[in-house]
Amino acid sequence: MNYQTVLEEIKEEIRPYLNKGTVANYIPALANVAEDDFAMSIIEIDGSEHHIGSYKKPFSIQSISKVFTFTLALDIYGKDLYKRVGHEPSGNPFNSLIQLEYEKGIPRNPFINAGAIVTTDSLVSKYKENTFSTLLEFIKKVSNDENIAFNKEIFKSELESGYRNFALINMMKSFNNIENHTQEVIETYFKQCSIMMNTKQLTKSMLYLANHGVIPNTNSEIITQAQAKRINAVMLTCGHYDASGDFAFHVGLPGKSGVGGGIVAVVPQKMAICVYSPRLNKHGNSLVGTKALELFTTKTRLSIF
Ligand code: GLN
Repeated sequence: MNYQTVLEEIKEEIRPYLNKGTVANYIPALANVAEDDFAMSIIEIDGSEHHIGSYKKPFSIQSISKVFTFTLALDIYGKDLYKRVGHEPSGNPFNSLIQLEYEKGIPRNPFINAGAIVTTDSLVSKYKENTFSTLLEFIKKVSNDENIAFNKEIFKSELESGYRNFALINMMKSFNNIENHTQEVIETYFKQCSIMMNTKQLTKSMLYLANHGVIPNTNSEIITQAQAKRINAVMLTCGHYDASGDFAFHVGLPGKSGVGGGIVAVVPQKMAICVYSPRLNKHGNSLVGTKALELFTTKTRLSIF
């Protein structure tokens, strides 16, 4: 299969959708992007790379960062992590408060905001003031790229406007499911969301999930095979919030989206993929990104189903 040709076909076929959807302007600094941008990268386990569009241009990874924090927390706490955050789909928007109260401050999964905030809190308990630098070092390691940083303007913009996330963390604190100071945890969470990466770096960073927890062509085990399997399962069932079923239905791969417009996806034992296009559908997932991945699995028959 010539993946470069596949990418070229996809780029043509998504063209009519490029002006559909809306960028995530609820975080003011995220509105300052080139709205019709598009990039897509594929990296195979053997190291072959294929890219198209603006694949060298960094964007805010937002909720894709939740894959990295989940990985780190699972490595530290193992199954105990699930006492504080579940592994079931929520069926609700990523920033919903409703379920969290009647489920007594235990978020459904680590990929909705509440669950990611608990996951980050668990890292703050372990790494204290070094939490963010530990996370950033981890991301540089799995991406094999030193040139990754967070964007201060996006971080500050979310800190000034993230009332819903403050509501979520305060609700969980009231149920004793946040161990550290809320301000420290929420700032770490907003910082992780404002990390800037391009599709090439993000694709590389997901290869351990396509390769049983080990960075391909190294002996570097990031997590156990069993845990890699769990992370992929949670990505498939929860990675797109209340559109996770729809993503499985149309794309059929473990995936994780972010409101910055990125989506990462994993083809087990084969490759990782990342697509970027900042306009979102009503569930907060990249509209063109979802379409591009659907075209990809249709053309290549690489859906897991
Ligand atoms: N930083 C965003 C928020 O908390 C992340 C949401 C997302 O990417 N889905 O609202």
